[in-house]
Amino acid sequence: MPNEWLAEILACPACENRPKLQQTANGWKCPECGREYPVIDGIPHLVIKEGLTPSPKQK
Ligand SMILES: [Zn+2]
Repeated sequence: MPNEWLAEILACPACENRPKLQQTANGWKCPECGREYPVIDGIPHLVIKEGLTPSPKQK
C-alpha cells in the first residue's frame, strides 16, 4: 500500500516546526523529537502520550 501521500501530510504534533514523519516498520517516527506513532488499522495515530491526562473516573 503506497504511503507517499501520508508522508506528505503527516507532521509531528509534538514539535513546533511540525517536521514530516518518517515511516518505520512499526509506524511513523519524528526525526526531531524521536517520538514514534503507531499505525492502527492502517490509520496513523498521532498522539502525544506525555501530554495526555488520564480520564477521571467518576464514582
Ligand atoms: Zn517531533
